Amino acid sequence: MDYVKLINCMRCGMCLPSCPTYKETFLETASPRGRVALIRKLQEGNLDQSERLLEYLSICLDCQACASACPCGVNAGQLVAEFTCERKSESGLGFMEDLILRKLVPHPDRLETSMAPMRLYQNSGLQKLVRTLGILKMFPKPLERMEGLLPPLPARPLRQEINEVTPAVGIARGTVGFFLGCVMSLIFSDASRATIKLLSALGYTVITPKKQVCCGAPNMLAGDRAGLEEAARTNIDIFQRHNVDYIVTDCGGCGAELKNYGHHMAGNAAAEFSAKVRDISQILALHATELAQLLKPLPLKVTYHDPCHIAHCQGIRSEPRDVLKLIPELEYTELEAADSCCGSAGTYNIVKPEMSDRILHRKLDSVRASGADILVTSNPGCLLQLKKGLADHLPDVKLLHLTELLARSMAA
Ligand code: SF4
Ligand code: SF4
Repeated sequence: MDYVKLINCMRCGMCLPSCPTYKETFLETASPRGRVALIRKLQEGNLDQSERLLEYLSICLDCQACASACPCGVNAGQLVAEFTCERKSESGLGFMEDLILRKLVPHPDRLETSMAPMRLYQNSGLQKLVRTLGILKMFPKPLERMEGLLPPLPARPLRQEINEVTPAVGIARGTVGFFLGCVMSLIFSDASRATIKLLSALGYTVITPKKQVCCGAPNMLAGDRAGLEEAARTNIDIFQRHNVDYIVTDCGGCGAELKNYGHHMAGNAAAEFSAKVRDISQILALHATELAQLLKPLPLKVTYHDPCHIAHCQGIRSEPRDVLKLIPELEYTELEAADSCCGSAGTYNIVKPEMSDRILHRKLDSVRASGADILVTSNPGCLLQLKKGLADHLPDVKLLHLTELLARSMAA
């Protein structure tokens, strides 16, 4: 770990009000400043790795809200992630981690096959029965949480359905490569279908290479640096075979990871790949005039939740809002603390359910206060977390991905 990054913290405390775990606990050790200090003391050999210390570090969501607030460029979330990576590389992956991160996630075919029992469970009516009888209460808590978060699955993953080349409609503007996020393809395929439709309607030929693999974000999250590098090499090699102007994604988490390949890997290929990556909102905002001509009125009150991976990790804030405001008759209302984490954070909502729920309830309070009919966001983790939260507490508010709402306006 780069020691300079640790000593850059001047302990001003400007990051404290933006840290979700500090807001919930008011503990210095659960704040960005405290976490940087803990890692620094560990690096200097002045602290032992106690269970309690590791717990304070592990409740960091890596939301990077602290990085947006810090005047010195300190990124406490990233430092915690790097620290976790270093510990993992010393201890190695556990059996289950190895199974999931190396044998399942990097293989789209296996990942899709693994979802088949879930689809059967939902379609056979077994899920309804299990939920009605509360059978999952007899199983370990994480399993119950995972089952509760799972929305109805599409009949088939998008990767199996979509053509590798979707032609441009109207005047040709260029060619883009589409990065299919695993969760987007497996669960939120309607949103990615809408993304491809929008790109094509704006004059882009869309290439969706079927052999692309997971971006590597789950590996990074689990501290598996070697797994991330393997994923990056595969994706760079696959997209290099196509001459594309941009590599577009509609998944905030994937976008943040893909833009980091150049930082994680040596060589020009990774840097060139990362330089081409765009979140879908960036492409849509780039063609606002043309997009506005395609949109029809939607008289709805809409608000937007900034995914951490889009606002804090990629610095994209105005584009999704600007694009939403193009829809005629749409009333846009700003969400209070819109860029505060929703508590999803990868598997955080499963492994740290109590803190995750507290953070989620803050977000739901803001949504309630906004009076919106529709909540829009652009990251699968947020979609899963907020879908469950809204269904349980605000069932009148609907949740949509940005491109789903735009596609609805286009078809209205
Ligand atoms: S991390 Fe940044 S904002 Fe927080 S105390 Fe240190 S210097 Fe200040
Ligand atoms: S990444 Fe998020 S949870 Fe972690 S220290 Fe920064 S603001 Fe707090």
